[in-house]
Amino acid sequence: MLLGHAGADVTVYERHERIGGRSGAIEAEGFRFDVGPTFFLYPEILRSLFRQCGLDFDREATLERLDDHYDLHFEGGPKLRISRHLSRLKDEIAKISTQDAENVASFIDENRKKLSLFGPVLQRPFNSLRDVFRLDMLRALPLLRPHRSVDQDLGRYFKDPRTRLAFSFQSKYLGMSPYRCPSLFTILGFMEHEFGIYHPIGGTQAVMEAMAHAAKQFGVEFRFNTPIRRLHLEKKHARGVITDRGMEPADAVVVNADFARAMTKLVPNRARKRWRDSVIAQKQYSCSTFMLYLGLEGALPEQGHHTVFLSKDYEQNFAEIEDGRFLSESPSLYVQNAGVTDPTQAPVGHSTLYALMPVGHLKEKSLVWDESLTRQARTLVLARLKDAGFGDIEPRIRFEKIITPQNWEDDYDVHRGAVFNLAHNLGQMLHRRPHNRFEDIKGIYLVGGGTHPGSGLPVIFEGARISSNLLVQDLAPQKARERMPFFSFKRYPTHDIA
Ligand SMILES: Cc1cc2nc3c(=O)[nH]c(=O)nc-3n(C[C@H](O)[C@H](O)[C@H](O)COP(=O)(O)OP(=O)(O)OC[C@H]3O[C@@H](n4cnc5c(N)ncnc54)[C@H](O)[C@@H]3O)c2cc1C
Repeated sequence: MLLGHAGADVTVYERHERIGGRSGAIEAEGFRFDVGPTFFLYPEILRSLFRQCGLDFDREATLERLDDHYDLHFEGGPKLRISRHLSRLKDEIAKISTQDAENVASFIDENRKKLSLFGPVLQRPFNSLRDVFRLDMLRALPLLRPHRSVDQDLGRYFKDPRTRLAFSFQSKYLGMSPYRCPSLFTILGFMEHEFGIYHPIGGTQAVMEAMAHAAKQFGVEFRFNTPIRRLHLEKKHARGVITDRGMEPADAVVVNADFARAMTKLVPNRARKRWRDSVIAQKQYSCSTFMLYLGLEGALPEQGHHTVFLSKDYEQNFAEIEDGRFLSESPSLYVQNAGVTDPTQAPVGHSTLYALMPVGHLKEKSLVWDESLTRQARTLVLARLKDAGFGDIEPRIRFEKIITPQNWEDDYDVHRGAVFNLAHNLGQMLHRRPHNRFEDIKGIYLVGGGTHPGSGLPVIFEGARISSNLLVQDLAPQKARERMPFFSFKRYPTHDIA
């Protein structure tokens, strides 16, 4: 969309029959499920990208802000209904600890400052170590506390570990444990409360379709069912792509496929200097997920739109996920019950339920996702749904689909099934993440969760803007000077203090 608007002739090659990838949809027998992400956290980025192309995002898609963000259900209690309104949020946190509830406002205030300082850093490329020592980074440093984890940092406000979890389980959006995720990412929990949680009517796919629709207006051509078999290189410069129809020449290639998978499958090892297969193999990756998508007879109106069910021993659950050799006996779950907001997801008289169980990614000696393990995981998820208060839903199942880590790798081209990409530890962020203008081969630009700024939809969209700006600078410097300035995170505080 951005490149088409900038005047480039763009062709999108997609191996599947429709756009979306991990943010697409599963549609069958009248049911529609989000494949991966189920909500939007910071829609202002979408508005800004559409505006940059002269379009109004709100005419192309509908995002509904949820009044209640999610039900946060601690195994063994309590169960909190987390509201967008600060006073109600504090009342709920007081069910855990009145002292912690008093500190919610200062957590929000400090993180507002942190995001406004760190926001600009997420909006520019990191092409080398020099970029780490720029003024914006130095300004942000005092608030970053780089060697603390999210959980440790939250300890400054919240004494009860359950309160800390209420503001840190969001590290899972990056596929990471709050006990290991760098403290920078306390901004994830903050962003929910500051900007809200939005449900896209028609599912996440509807937003992807809106982008494709916009791109087509700028002449972008889509070739579906067209896997790229290899990148075409001439003297370490990408000069096109190779599909089953042969070589298709190009001045530049934007790689949106999962970074580790694309490099190891589409680009010969000898053509890469920094990101060789052996280096990619040693990197740390996010967790994977086991998914159960259920089409149910009837609805579940008493359940929230989103439910986060947190295992009694969350820390051990995460340690087991990282270990990868066992299925946890009492795992945490995330459940989406979209029917309470959006009736378009299921036939009349029916509803959809999406259950996500974090599990280890594929690696040596990890679990082998054969039929027997898949059956075991399905039984476990149904039992945990009961524990989470969803009752015995098995007799009501009219449609079901399962995705295992192995399916993520085989069917969605995700390296090791690590659906949240390269882990976001300090050794794999900023200039240490694969660069937006790929450093090993000229003419390649990276987008998606495997490059800077990282995984998670808002930052992936920001990364697309960084990469397309670099590409335009390189191929059409005159155009680059006309580009829209970046927006400021400070400009859109929408926190409702009720
Ligand atoms: C279950 C789950 C839950 C998630 N929850 C959240 C969440 O709550 N919040 C959040 O922000 N993020 C979440 N994510 C992460 C988010 O989905 C990903 O980070 C994001 O979608 C990755 O986008 P991408 O563009 O990098 O990759 P993808 O969406 O995988 O896009 C890559 C595209 O390239 C195509 N492709 C790959 N190889 C080839 C080839 N050789 N030829 C042609 N086409 C090819 C693929 O088919 C795909 O369409 C979740 C992910 C999953 C799976």
